[in-house]
Amino acid sequence: METYFNLVSGASASASDVYDVKDPATLDIVARAPVSTIDDLDAAVAAANAAARGSWANDLPARKAMLAQCAHRIEVCSAELAHVLSREQGKPLAAAKGEIATSVRLLTYYAQKDQRRETLRQRSSEYVDVVRAPIGTVGLIVPWNYPIAILMMKLAPALWAGNTVVIKPAPSTPLTTLMLCARLADILPAGVINTVTGEGDIGQALVEHAGILKVSFTGSTQTGIRVMESSAPMLKRLTLELGGNDAAIVCRDANVADIAPKIFNNAFANAGQLCCAIKRLYVHRSIFDPMLERLIEIARHWRVGPGLNWDTQMGPLNNRAQRDHVRALLDDAVAQGGTIHVGGEPLDGYAGHFLKPAIVSDVSDATRIVKEEQFGPALPVLPFDTVDEAIYRANASEFGLGGSVWSTDVSAAVDAASRLEAVNLYVNQHAVPPDPELPFGGMKASGFGYELGEWGCDDFSIRKVLNVNAGVE
Ligand code: NDP
Repeated sequence: METYFNLVSGASASASDVYDVKDPATLDIVARAPVSTIDDLDAAVAAANAAARGSWANDLPARKAMLAQCAHRIEVCSAELAHVLSREQGKPLAAAKGEIATSVRLLTYYAQKDQRRETLRQRSSEYVDVVRAPIGTVGLIVPWNYPIAILMMKLAPALWAGNTVVIKPAPSTPLTTLMLCARLADILPAGVINTVTGEGDIGQALVEHAGILKVSFTGSTQTGIRVMESSAPMLKRLTLELGGNDAAIVCRDANVADIAPKIFNNAFANAGQLCCAIKRLYVHRSIFDPMLERLIEIARHWRVGPGLNWDTQMGPLNNRAQRDHVRALLDDAVAQGGTIHVGGEPLDGYAGHFLKPAIVSDVSDATRIVKEEQFGPALPVLPFDTVDEAIYRANASEFGLGGSVWSTDVSAAVDAASRLEAVNLYVNQHAVPPDPELPFGGMKASGFGYELGEWGCDDFSIRKVLNVNAGVE
């Protein structure tokens, strides 16, 4: 059985203990990953701190050249990375390849990104400029749904800005991250990227470590709150990309045949394990029945299977806890009088965490499957009578990540979408793949801070205000 290693100070770190990483479709062991100890974490942070004091922090052109080499290396290794990603995460191989390609695109964007001069004031011989400095060593805590795309949303701007990093992948998906970091080790100076892995408390220990000056976390709201509490004593900078419960509002003039497949694709992409998936579908009562029927029809023919099967459209959920959570929400919906029209059952012949795509109706907004984040392949469909009512119900959520309005009257849809209490707003689309130029973030219980684009760089930089009197004699 193959064992993967952490990267610390540019070399593979020995591990005193390992654990099994399992294929979520079959529960076969894919490989073993290290269980990092506190001593391992200290070594990773020390290596990152040492690299942060080197020339890395002060040489943007050199960093950009290395980021370009990294992007090229990932492209060269994309087949082996995608294979491991599909096996440990469960997603179809084509989706895993797409995720690796996305990470190359993100890295390439930052490899080409220049630092603009920002002048706040220019008066005769005086000027005030904004200058950027790296924060230092930052901790990147990455979840299991998109282990490489979400890693790169953090890693690429963090490195561009001159930081060094300690990465902690999720316990169920460490392998692709460890493989990717190993492939980049000879390009980057030792200590610029380091990893720790494990199933226990290592995430919290990373957040609490005195040598970590900022944490960028993607995961659940509850864990995000704990990350914030652990960061408070040192006033650490934070970016928190937490859960979502995105509503999509389908207006009475929408073209059902055209948009039903698009809505289905978004809701069930990655088996629904996407922070910005459509998680509540509000449909105008006049077109409710045809929309529901169309979604049921698509679900019935959706091909569910292991990620490496050539024809799989949807893999298993990534882990047992997540599968049990979604199943519990479906059971609760039925107990509250809801109807599961299709799906929700496991896949015959497989021991893994499968649930076939479920379409649910006859539930109220107070039902758990509407109120809570399901983060899985189960979509509640709810009728509404007026757009004002739909917006009110969409906004009556603790979350504020994204939302969309679907209509042939684009200007009315733009107006309605702008009234949603969420950061990422869409009209006649929902949550397109991460675009390196466009910031992504949340409000309310979905977190704060931005990733990607210029704003993503700000989250990984200290912006200093330089006041200059150039008129000296
Ligand atoms: P969690 O948010 O609980 O965990 C995510 C990561 O945080 C793991 O790597 C975990 O590693 C680490 N972690 C746990 N506790 C702490 C802590 N106190 N300080 C620092 N790091 C910590 O996610 P789950 O995997 O348990 O998923 C639960 C729910 O989270 C899902 O149902 C979904 O709603 C949401 N989620 C949202 C995602 C998103 O993209 N926004 C992605 C994944 C999940 P360790 O345990 O090793 O410390």
